[in-house]
Amino acid sequence: MHEMSLCLNMMDLIEEHAHKHHARRVTAVWLEVGALSCVEEHALRFGFEVACRSTVAEGCRLWLDYKLAPAWCWDCCVSVEVDRHDAACPQCGGHALKIDGGDSLRITQMEVE
Ligand SMILES: [Zn+2]
Repeated sequence: MHEMSLCLNMMDLIEEHAHKHHARRVTAVWLEVGALSCVEEHALRFGFEVACRSTVAEGCRLWLDYKLAPAWCWDCCVSVEVDRHDAACPQCGGHALKIDGGDSLRITQMEVE
């Protein structure tokens, strides 16, 4: 389950951040999830909860913010946004898209006390 290793990596960052800010507890974490990151929400939430156990972030809330992937349509010559690898251009319905990113998983905000 690759969500578990992603969560463990995130926990390193979270603990580092908490330590730097002399926080006793992390109460909420906001995550930006790329629409093409292949992360399954249930697995992510479960993995996060497990990774948080016995850390400064134990029991914290997790907010997910899904982000569409930027793509370039060679037919329209415009930038568009898509939510799947096989998506068609929302402007012209064509498939001449060059998808750029959209597979990110990153912490955007943290609430500490
Ligand atoms: Zn197009």
